[in-house]
This record gives sequence, C-alpha cells and structure tokens, in this order.
Amino acid sequence: MTEQDLISTVIRPEIRALTAYKVADATGYIKLDAMENPYTWPEAVKAEWLNIIHDAEINRYPDPEAKALCRILKEYNQIPAESEILLGNGSDEIIQLLLMALPANATVMAAEPSFVMYQQVAQCLGLNYQGLPLLADSFDIDLAVTLATIKSQQPEIIFLAYPNNPTGNLFDSDAIEKIIQQSKGLVIIDEAYAPFTDFSFIKQLTRHNNLLVMRTVSKLGLAGLRLGFIAGKASIINELNKARLPYNINILTQCSAEFALSHPDIFAEQTQTICHERARMFLQLSTITGMTPCPSAANFILFRTPKGKATDIFNALKDQGILIKNLSSQQGLLTDCLRVTIGKPEENNAFINALKECI
Ligand code: PMP
Repeated sequence: MTEQDLISTVIRPEIRALTAYKVADATGYIKLDAMENPYTWPEAVKAEWLNIIHDAEINRYPDPEAKALCRILKEYNQIPAESEILLGNGSDEIIQLLLMALPANATVMAAEPSFVMYQQVAQCLGLNYQGLPLLADSFDIDLAVTLATIKSQQPEIIFLAYPNNPTGNLFDSDAIEKIIQQSKGLVIIDEAYAPFTDFSFIKQLTRHNNLLVMRTVSKLGLAGLRLGFIAGKASIINELNKARLPYNINILTQCSAEFALSHPDIFAEQTQTICHERARMFLQLSTITGMTPCPSAANFILFRTPKGKATDIFNALKDQGILIKNLSSQQGLLTDCLRVTIGKPEENNAFINALKECI
C-alpha cells in the first residue's frame, strides 16, 4: 500500500482537504502578529512565582477539576454565582470541545470575517459551516440577513467574537441580544479581548439558557499557559464536561494562573498602557496617506491599505524586521487589509516609522 493509499484509507476526506493553521516563525522580528501582551512581570514577582513552581508536584496528576483555579477565575471575571465554568487548554480547545459535543450533521455559524478556528474545527469534524457576512462599511452584524439565515437553517451553535477578531469592533449589543433570543441553539459570545473593553455579556448569563460566554487568559498576558474558560448554565456546562479530557489543564498552568490572577494590579496597569497605545496608534495610522484604520476595542488594529498593496507592504515591513498579520489573502471584506497587534511604545513607533518608509 502506498502512503497516499494509506492516507486515503485512514484520514477523513474533510481533513485531507484542510490546510493546516500556519503560525509564522517570528524569530528575530518585532512581533506584532499574534495579539500577545508584550509585557512580562517585575523580577520580584517572577521570583515569587518560581517558588510556587518549585513546590508543584509534577510527579502527580493535576486536580482534574482545577477547583482552586475555577474559583479564582470566577471571581476575577465576575461570573454570576449560579453560573458554572469549564476550563480548556486555551479557548481553542473549548471551541473543539463544543463542536465535538454537537450531533452529527449539525450546523455551525459564525460572523464572517471572524476568528478562523470556528470554521476550521467545524470542517475538521465534518459539520456544516455557514458564515454570517458582516456589513461591508462597519463590520457590524447584518441583522435582517443574520436572523433570516438563523431561521431557515436553525444552527445548533453560533459564535460571535465580542470584540471581533480580526476587525476589532464590538458588534451592536441589541443585535446580539436578538440573535440570542431568536436562536434555538447555543450562542457563544467569545470575549477573548475582554481585557481591552468594558463591554461584556457576562451579566446576561443568568437571563438566557442558550448563552455561553468564553474567555481566555492569553490576551491578558498569559498566552504561554494555554488557559481559557466558558461560562453558562450549570446543566449545559455539566454536559460539556463529559466531553472534556480529565487532566486537560496541567499543574504548571493551574498554579501559575492562580498566582498570576492574584496580582490583578499588574495586568490592570499593562492593559491600560496597551489601550493608551491603541489610541495613539490609531491616530498615527490615520495620518499615513492611503491607510484606513478601523476603530478597535481590542489589542490590535485592522487597517486597509491602498488597493493591491497589502502583501507588498507586509513584506516590506518584514524586511525592516517587523512581523504583523497579512489578512488580504482571506479576500472578501479583508481584501487589502493588514492587522497589527499593539506592542510596547518603542515597538509601535518602529512599526509606524517602517510603514511610512513603505509608501
Ligand atoms: N477567540 C478569539 C476571538 C481569538 O482571536 C483567539 C486567538 N487569537 C482565540 C479565541 C483563541 O485563544 P486561546 O486559544 O489562546 O485561548
């Protein structure tokens, strides 16, 4: 049997048809491509953290329910007492878990453009995927079309990133509310960028049976730990928990996240600086001829470049040592668009100066 025959026999066609999610090699670049927090911790805090790691019992399995961490996460994120949470190895894993729990042939919907993993995982699992196109001028929800699509196709699950990635905007909250009310399936509000906005659906959790809110610690400054959670009605979280692997949150993640979240001031200061820089970057980008930045409530800015120039600009920035994200190849509303993550002031200045050099 040839390798190709073997692959055709043992790998499902929908997986063979996929392209793997590629992450660019950032070695040596100013890294403004992945919505990470650019700041680390003061040395004294790092030393305290190392003491905790020192005592972690890595010869034992971790707490399968990560009870202490759940308690801290609920408090830090002001989750209503009657809601339950489930943890994932990054919110990516929670997306996979949610979709694995759906019936065969279920329909998954997500705003488009949005985070690519919703569609990627849906296709990987052989589910039906239907994009909900956003309005071209504002990147907001096209409510009439969206409600009609939901009514005709009755999706089991809808993902709405709030703020949205890669556009950075917050969708109209009344539109989201109507989608939650009219949907007979689950509605997942993905609040990955919550640290950079005051808007949230967490308070609405108690009002809707089909609403779940997902968050991550990645953008807060703990991307390397791989930890996300989803909150919702206890009965739904209990069902999802059956599909979760017992030790999905390792002991180093558990103790490190518990420690980190007990230092909220550090994160508050860092995210505030990032939000300041976001405002400054937006203004600077607006003054560069041909660049149109989109207002952002997240830690990145999407900007439109002159027609047909996105890839040239992306490559020219790379040549100057700056890595951002080229979204133009996704086409549709993202044609000519690039996305830059907000870094440290000096990194942002280097990006702006390099961009000016490109035109
Ligand atoms: N949701 C959104 C909207 C994202 O942009 C991302 C990462 N870019 C994630 C979820 C996944 O985050 P993580 O797996 O790091 O928790």
